[in-house]
Amino acid sequence: MAEKYVIVTGGVISGIGKGIFSASLARLLKDCGLDVETLKIDPYLNVDAGTMNPNQHGEVFVTEDGYEADLDLGHYERFLGRNMTRNNNLTAGQVYRNVVNKEREGKFLGATVQMVPHVTEEIKSHIRSMKAEVGIVEIGGTVGDIEGEIFLEAVRELSLEMGRNNFVFIHVTYVPYLKTTNEFKTKPTQQSIQLLRRIGINPDFIVVRSEASMDSASLDKVALFGGVNRDRVVNLPDVDNVYSVPEVLHALDLHEKISDILNLKVKNCELTWHYPRMLKPVKIALVGKYLGTDDAYKSIIESVVLAGAERPTVVDAETIEDFKDDESVHSYLSTYDALIIPGGFGRRGIEGKIRVIKVAREKKIPILGICLGMQLMVIEYARNVTGLKGANSTEFDPETPYPVIDLMESQKKILKLGGTMRLGAQDMRVVKGTRLYEIYGGREIVRERHRHRYEVNEEKFPQLFASDVKESNGRLVISARSEFVEAVELKDHPFFIGVQFHPEFKSKVGQPHPIFIELVKAAEGGKKR
Ligand code: GLN
Repeated sequence: MAEKYVIVTGGVISGIGKGIFSASLARLLKDCGLDVETLKIDPYLNVDAGTMNPNQHGEVFVTEDGYEADLDLGHYERFLGRNMTRNNNLTAGQVYRNVVNKEREGKFLGATVQMVPHVTEEIKSHIRSMKAEVGIVEIGGTVGDIEGEIFLEAVRELSLEMGRNNFVFIHVTYVPYLKTTNEFKTKPTQQSIQLLRRIGINPDFIVVRSEASMDSASLDKVALFGGVNRDRVVNLPDVDNVYSVPEVLHALDLHEKISDILNLKVKNCELTWHYPRMLKPVKIALVGKYLGTDDAYKSIIESVVLAGAERPTVVDAETIEDFKDDESVHSYLSTYDALIIPGGFGRRGIEGKIRVIKVAREKKIPILGICLGMQLMVIEYARNVTGLKGANSTEFDPETPYPVIDLMESQKKILKLGGTMRLGAQDMRVVKGTRLYEIYGGREIVRERHRHRYEVNEEKFPQLFASDVKESNGRLVISARSEFVEAVELKDHPFFIGVQFHPEFKSKVGQPHPIFIELVKAAEGGKKR
């Protein structure tokens, strides 16, 4: 059990940065010398985020142990500088599945199985299983959501069982600004606090998110109607760089205010925190297809920022399919210093991405292909250089004459979609003499995370690949392998690297993945040209 708990709830609307707040608080408390653990609770019924569409829910973040999580675990990893596991996430799907399984196993000894106490006990036992001085529990969604209620009931009960001075409740809300009347409107915030109180939770802190700094009269109002001390109502207006949030919380003395309630001794709190403050003005395009929200490519975008460059622009692969010729694709891409082809599933947009890869290869624009992006690099090469017309992945064209990307035997037997991909971190060997080997600083064995089903079909199409790193003869060089092809690259190109794994999941603040550092360097090199 954690000794103390901080529970973070959300009000008014989702997507206001509860995850960034929780991660920042975790980082701040860690830098105060406390042993901190985090838990994200997701009240949705999915067992994990693996089957969720990134357009609606943002990216699926993969942990070292192969768990498919919500993107908040990515924030926790980047901000805390530490890897998370499946234990750092709890979904309603898991909770109900466990309770129903226990019922079938006869574990409830004849009892009528109910939301209270059986479901709440299942939730409490997961929260109790956290081991740390301070456990930060972020409850997803907003107060008032039907599916979230049982989780709020569980933490309310737990706070009574453990004693109120072992618990801090922080409610993160949003205050909109009304231009027509020139004022901040606190009513939705007041109402969401009322909802919390009706459930029996009196928040200790209200963190008010807003577009701009709020006037103190509005904050007084939140304190008065919310029944919270004025010095525990803090305003967090939007910031340009989310990595400054731990510093903002520090300046607001939040660590001390929380420690006062929890009776924690915080030692010299100094943020040991290095993030790029000035971002290099290189322009990187992320050629994707999940355009509903930038969150769909969160870890890639953050990896680029942590490597010191401006946020990449997400551009639509599908629209590129309609360009009349390669020249127009080239002129469209020529405003960018580097390109990234991210992971993805399904055939939509792939022909556009393949056109981009062709132009980047021929015109020597730095390009990084990740997972699906790497598979498309192999397809493009097979079609346009090796002359295998109609080469494809069997994911997009089961009848292709040249299945250069294909399912391996072990995957063919699997019929269901949830949790059945090649997932999580695995070791691979980096090939000496390649660019990738240099990027990894001469490390031969590296461990990277995966999330995919299809593999490069090297056995059937050896003609695509150079047999010797030095004499590549214009073929693709395999630069890392495990049991499968893990990475390919081209010589005589400023940066043409495809990786079957996801380097973006490994970037931490102060420690961006070296592949992104090199991509940014290549992009800078291109600028000077
Ligand atoms: N759809 C491809 C596969 O399953 C790539 C997956 C990905 O990009 N994450 O292999």
